[in-house]
Amino acid sequence: MKLYNTLTRTTEEFVPHEAGKVSMYTCGPTVYNFAHIGNLRTYLMEDVLEKYLRYAGYAVTRVMNITDIGHLSSDADTGEDKMLLGAKREHKTVLELAKFYTDAFFADCAALNIKRPDVVQPATGCVEEFIRVIVSLMEKGYAYKAGGNVYFDTSKVEQYHKFFNFKEDDLEVGVREGVDEDENKRNKNDFVLWFTKSKFEDQALKWDSPWGVGYPGWHIECSCIAMKYLGEYVDIHCGGIDNVFPHHTNEIAQSEAYLGHQWCKYWFHVLHLNTSGGKMSKSSGGFLTLKKLEEEGYSPMEYRFFCLQSHYRNSLVYSQDSFDNAANAYRKLRQRTVAIPEEGEIDAQAVARYKKAFCDAMDADLNTSLAVTCVYDVVKAKDINGATKRALLADFDKVLSLDLLKEEAKKESSLSAEEIEAAIAARAAAKKAKNYAEADRIRGELAAKGITLVDTPNGTTYKIQ
Ligand code: AMP
Ligand code: ZN
Repeated sequence: MKLYNTLTRTTEEFVPHEAGKVSMYTCGPTVYNFAHIGNLRTYLMEDVLEKYLRYAGYAVTRVMNITDIGHLSSDADTGEDKMLLGAKREHKTVLELAKFYTDAFFADCAALNIKRPDVVQPATGCVEEFIRVIVSLMEKGYAYKAGGNVYFDTSKVEQYHKFFNFKEDDLEVGVREGVDEDENKRNKNDFVLWFTKSKFEDQALKWDSPWGVGYPGWHIECSCIAMKYLGEYVDIHCGGIDNVFPHHTNEIAQSEAYLGHQWCKYWFHVLHLNTSGGKMSKSSGGFLTLKKLEEEGYSPMEYRFFCLQSHYRNSLVYSQDSFDNAANAYRKLRQRTVAIPEEGEIDAQAVARYKKAFCDAMDADLNTSLAVTCVYDVVKAKDINGATKRALLADFDKVLSLDLLKEEAKKESSLSAEEIEAAIAARAAAKKAKNYAEADRIRGELAAKGITLVDTPNGTTYKIQ
């Protein structure tokens, strides 16, 4: 399998540290708000990667942290604690807030058929590990105390910028404007390992440490949680592209300083979901959640299909039109896949042939859009019988998880996609002719068959109950 590695900026053959086994680490959500559909794109593509590795025969162990402490409003350790701000906003304790949004996150994941990682570790449960590693970094001379906080000294590592050949002047990435420079830092890119000089008088969660009562920085959480469960070598580390700097850059610096050898070989980054106004982000407030999409009549599987149709290394622009197109295409595809009859004997040669095309697509740096084309090729094929088609779709769905053959689908509707579309067109024509009674009659007739129409600014879509 070939994967693009952000570390080497090339597409490489994937060779894990230990034959047959893959250790995989994923930066989990900061649980101060709902995940938006951009965050979910990242987790969804990581899920496809994990499932494809399992499909290819690897024994995968996947670990994810939950950031419930230490992530400040700027990734460069300035600003305020995101969790504390969220707790104030919602009149909850930090732990209540974390529980609420962690549960909401996994509910979204379940709806999107995203498998739960083998290990999910909230940062607040690993403080002892963080302290142990920070003590060692202090002893080795990679960390220093200043103004009460403990900082990682980036000048002590041979090459701090592993991902890019940054020019010093370009290093403002990830550092938002309008935040004060921390004067305790010896070097501009030094980052906090442990905060004690808390500017937040009411910081809810604090632990005792050799440097005073305080709490960990965000970056050390991921390094320590990964090492705790995966040992000294991580095969693949995943995240959204904004994590490259400073978060992953800092993770590498501290982990390799601590371990004394290379830590993680492959870095897998998913590009952003953007809106016409730019990157979708939690802090900007105006973001779309899965719940909102569902309220508008879309299903989580339609969003999964939308994501799989594009490559994870391309930014994906969300617009009502592009999403509607994907949602309609998915519904039509499923109408066809669930209707495939279980007839004939499975043709093993044909299975091998179509499977190879699917694997070739996924082996080429996880080309999910081509893999979706493989699904269509099976559905449309004239030379294979129903049983073979169903066997192939079930097989591909181990990775794509699009519910292509899910049982309930058969019961979904007594009307075909074409009949529903025709009824929608007839209703639109009736409305245009101001014949609202007829339009309402059509809506009522569809509703009686379990089909709810949803009027959007871009036309009418439908939901099957
Ligand atoms: P957060 O909860 O803010 O720590 O982010 C969770 C994950 O979502 C991280 O891996 C981010 O890199 C990723 N992410 C943030 N914004 C986007 C976006 N607009 N599109 C895709 N992934 C994103
Ligand atoms: Zn992380």
